This record gives sequence, structure tokens and C-alpha cells, in this order.
Amino acid sequence: MTGTDPLHRVFFALWPDQRLRATLAALARSLPADGRPVPAAHLHLTLAFPGTVSAAKVAEMSARADRLRLPKIRLMLGRLGWFPRPRVAWIGPSRTVPELESLAAELKGLCEASGVRMEDRAYRPHVTLRRFVTRFESFDVEPMEWRPGEMVLIESGQAGHPGPYQVLRSWSVSPD
Ligand code: ATP
Ligand code: MG
Repeated sequence: MTGTDPLHRVFFALWPDQRLRATLAALARSLPADGRPVPAAHLHLTLAFPGTVSAAKVAEMSARADRLRLPKIRLMLGRLGWFPRPRVAWIGPSRTVPELESLAAELKGLCEASGVRMEDRAYRPHVTLRRFVTRFESFDVEPMEWRPGEMVLIESGQAGHPGPYQVLRSWSVSPD
């Protein structure tokens, strides 16, 4: 690799369709919390976060992801919660979803196999709804069903710095 190979800040995510995106955006706006809603076009559920890597590693991870078979997953988004350190309010599945955990673990494995060092933190599936939230009481809502149809590789920002999202690649869930 040469010193001119630009870096890319990337992550794998499940990508809501337009309908769910609109519903989540409306929920984000109406939450009883301070801070500000995540733009509708940014709403996603992170599966794995390689972070800032070379273009060669992006290509290798993409090629490995091409060989994955995406499982059908059914999520019931019914839990609203808050992560105090990143100060985000989120919605997530009310209970553990084994297919989701397996997919996240598989992606983490393929990132590592591509030479990316991954953080060893517990996987907490969620869709961030609002940022800069200084206080938020968790509560449950009537669960929203989500059967994700699309996994994406997103580049957030440019040259490794966070910013607007670009969809680099997209993979569809197998029809059966
Ligand atoms: P910004 O940081 O500009 O506010 P962002 O958080 O949307 O924007 P990123 O920081 O690139 O953009 O993060 C993209 C996604 O990856 C987000 O869902 C974020 O929560 C998640 N993420 C960021 N850092 C990590 C990490 N170290 N481990 C796991 N997920 C992470
Ligand atoms: Mg961030």
C-alpha cells in the first residue's frame, strides 16, 4: 500500500426501506428528549464497524461479504433506550435475535480475516434516533416489525472523518 491510498471510515448495516425509514424518522422527531433527530437518510442498524481502513481492505471485506448468504431476520423494534456516553437515544429489538447476532459475528469475522482489528465490545443492536441526548428514560412501545431486505456497506464521511453517508455496496436478503 502506498502513502497516497486514502482511508475510508466504513461500517456494515441493515438499511431500512423508505417506509420504515419514514416511520423511524417521525418517531425520532417526536421522542420526549433533547438533542436532535438523526436525519432520515442516516437511519440504520449497525452490524459491524471496521472503522477507518484502506481501500484495499474495503475491497477485501466487500469480496468476502459477496460470499455471505444473508439470512431472513425478523426484528421486533419495541425498546427505546439511551446510551449515556455517546448520548444517543435509540430503538432496538425487545429481545435477543439469534440470526442477527450470528450475522454480526460473521461480519466481524470477515473483517478480521481481511486484516481489520475489531473492537471486542458486546454487540448491542440498535437504530440511533437522536443524538446529543443528555437524559432519557427507557420505555417500551408497541413493537414495529422489521424484516430487513438489504445490508449495506456505508462510508461515513471522507478520508476517514465522519460525515455524510455514501452507500458503497448493497446486498439483498435471499428471497427464500
Ligand atoms: P458522527 O460520528 O459524525 O456523528 P455517525 O456516528 O453516524 O456520525 P460514525 O461515527 O462513522 O458515523 O458511525 C457509524 C455507525 O457506526 C454508527 O451507527 C455508530 O454508532 C457506529 N459506530 C461508531 N463507532 C463504533 C465502534 N467503535 N463500534 C461499534 N460501532 C460503532
Ligand atoms: Mg459517530
